[in-house]
Amino acid sequence: MSDYFPFDKITADAPTPGFANGIGAQITEADKTVLEIYKKADANTKKNLDVELARSLQYGFTEGHTEILDFLKEHTELIHKPAYADWDLIASVGNTESWDSTLRTFVTRGDSILVEEYSFSSALETAHAQGVNTIPVAMDTEGILPEALSSLLDNWVGPKPKMLYTICTGQNPTGSSLSAQRRREIYALAVKHDFIIVEDEPYYFLQMETYTSDLEARKARHVHSHEEFVSALVPSFISLDTEGRVIRLDSFSKVLAPGVRFGWIVGQAKLLERYLRLHEVTIQCPSGFSSSLVNGLLQRWGQSGYLDWLIGLRAEYTHKRDVAIDAVVKYFPSEVVSFLPPVAGMFFTTTIDVSKHPKYKELGEDPVKVEEQIYNQGIEQGCLMIPGSWFKTQGQSNPPQKELPENPEAKTHIFFRGTYAAVPLDDLVIGLEKFGRAIKIEFGLE
Ligand code: PLP
Repeated sequence: MSDYFPFDKITADAPTPGFANGIGAQITEADKTVLEIYKKADANTKKNLDVELARSLQYGFTEGHTEILDFLKEHTELIHKPAYADWDLIASVGNTESWDSTLRTFVTRGDSILVEEYSFSSALETAHAQGVNTIPVAMDTEGILPEALSSLLDNWVGPKPKMLYTICTGQNPTGSSLSAQRRREIYALAVKHDFIIVEDEPYYFLQMETYTSDLEARKARHVHSHEEFVSALVPSFISLDTEGRVIRLDSFSKVLAPGVRFGWIVGQAKLLERYLRLHEVTIQCPSGFSSSLVNGLLQRWGQSGYLDWLIGLRAEYTHKRDVAIDAVVKYFPSEVVSFLPPVAGMFFTTTIDVSKHPKYKELGEDPVKVEEQIYNQGIEQGCLMIPGSWFKTQGQSNPPQKELPENPEAKTHIFFRGTYAAVPLDDLVIGLEKFGRAIKIEFGLE
């Protein structure tokens, strides 16, 4: 049948890994990675490593093509070193799809799952659309508070939740990242209360160097070798897992491109078999073009080149984050604003003490009303930062859980989310200056 496929060859030019400082990945005639993938296997230059179009554009291969799966397994061994024998991985169409399939596989209408108090709206909507309740777990600027999770579970009414969904590195929206210690404590709670941990980790490789305002110290901080890079990464939940109760959702969206629509799921082989059966009747398989091109790229870069690429991203994002935080320090009024520079991801948040707002009392001491005022003032000044309340998780289990003591800061503190990923750095600085001005105007600090 492939005789009738109207594609004989696809080609792409990609950079050779490594980034020229501050100007992104460059391709030159002298230095580029060239992909040429043919329909027929024997025309391909990397005969045993390329996925020929006659195969990739065919139905089937739901689990993904062996070549790319082998590459990703080797990569997973290098980075996460899973601690049990029968782990495996299968291809997906990215984490959006992997999460939807995870819900379809493990939970059912009326079930409750645990999620971060502020979470990725699309992930919450996916759960709600399947009739699944999302129960918030308290967090701070460093992610889920293990003691809050523990107390929530100790006081749980009715059947315990089967799953925790967490974006544990460079969280969307808060920019928080769970420390290794918190991850260990949360994993211990998963064992104790018998739930699955789903780590949605598109930002894992956007881990950065620690922020410092000292320009000399900045120059010295980059990782140089592969070993340094790998050991600087925070341990993933899958690397802590000894019982096969972690499902890791991985994606090329933030390290190659979102439109690639290629991701993978790592977990216990028996659980992955369930996804496979579901994928057979839903996605069938990731796009054949994507499979051939992504595989072709990774095979040419090799494990070592891919690590070089990720090391380059680490330096690029560190620089972007530094520029954003420098601007926050310079333009945001420290009288009312606090923040923790993110160590991973694309997002940063600035926390504002609304109790110092002149109209706090007049607005009924309602933090969301003050947030709205600041948001509108930001728009008026020409800068959009997203109010934290837009990401607040709401959910009620059935039967409802006991009320636990509320964090007293919830009444007086709000946050806004910004990103340094999407705009040129000059515009970012101008935008942050405008938002800083909006806060000063609102708080009478101009
Ligand atoms: N999960 C989180 C937490 C995200 O922030 C995003 C993208 O913004 C996604 C998943 C989407 O991932 P993918 O493009 O792999 O579907």
